[in-house]
Amino acid sequence: MTKKRILSGIQTTGNLHLGNYLGAIRNWVEMQDEYECFLFLADLHAITVPHDPKLLAENTYKVAAAYLACGIDPERATVFVQSHISAHSELAWLFNCITPLNWLERMIQFKEKAVKQGENVSVGLLDYPVLQSADILLYEPDMVPVGEDQKQHIELTRDIAVRLNHLFGKKKEPVLKVPDALIRVDGARVMSLTDGTKKMSKSDPSELSRIEIGDTPDLIKKKIKKCKTDPMRGLEFGNPERPECDNLLTLYMLLSGQEKAAVAAECADMGWGQFKPLLTETAIAALQPIQEKYQALMDDRGYLESVLKQGNQKASVIANQTLTKVKDALGYSKPL
Ligand code: ATP
Ligand code: MG
Repeated sequence: MTKKRILSGIQTTGNLHLGNYLGAIRNWVEMQDEYECFLFLADLHAITVPHDPKLLAENTYKVAAAYLACGIDPERATVFVQSHISAHSELAWLFNCITPLNWLERMIQFKEKAVKQGENVSVGLLDYPVLQSADILLYEPDMVPVGEDQKQHIELTRDIAVRLNHLFGKKKEPVLKVPDALIRVDGARVMSLTDGTKKMSKSDPSELSRIEIGDTPDLIKKKIKKCKTDPMRGLEFGNPERPECDNLLTLYMLLSGQEKAAVAAECADMGWGQFKPLLTETAIAALQPIQEKYQALMDDRGYLESVLKQGNQKASVIANQTLTKVKDALGYSKPL
């Protein structure tokens, strides 16, 4: 029986944090045996916000090393670079021409990020969900495992696929496969350490808002010490008036690998003064092996390059097949 296929990726916009790890990568790692995994480094998305050309290529290697350090196995998963496969940009253009503008204008992430960019909002920021749709649909995945914040973009991807099939496909022979989002309950939305109502993000200007995968023990200690809490005693999951409490307990649960009920019982009578050192210790211990592997990978550029080269080769064959199918359906002549 053929395995079902998943596809996912992370923007190479900076250092990965616990949200990326717990909401995305950790789930990919668990799915590697059961699914055929295509995991890409979203470096075309990385320029939708102002970027430094000196860091762009390096950031791609860093995120690749982080994938592998977190447990992605390049023998089982195909890891590749978005900008190295031109079919992504080309399909995005074709999709642009069938996507109504108002579908993009209502994207929550665009509205949130546009506010931060003020006058200089690029067309790319508005259009990035269309490129993301191309990223996904090129590989005909069954499922797209993402964090909660990407739900709306996956819905858009489905809408674009359905629209293209409707406009240019035959009833029994759709051009594009329509994938499903896969959003896990736990870790799907890791919140900021400084505001429990906002998601943890690479692009948050405050470094204190997130724990990065590469943070030193001292930095982790400092960030947890300074993180926002509340004046109540006793810790609990699920109280909407205590978003920070729910978030920090969830982090503890996921990083320690314990069941929710066990954590709820262990922490029910704790104060913050007792809980924070426990969370600190747990986070340091969970990240230490990842950091060691990450460093070894960053020191072996030749190996990283060989992994990406192999991934690019495999991915480009599939991407170009789908692109050709779409161009045929739209009526383009074959290249001469
Ligand atoms: P940026 O601020 O640049 O958008 P980001 O932190 O949102 O960065 P992305 O590269 O946009 O990271 O997202 C990569 C993956 O990580 C996606 O699957 C996304 O859903 C997931 N993710 C991002 N932030 C969180 C979070 N706080 N909790 C859970 N999952 C998250
Ligand atoms: Mg994001």
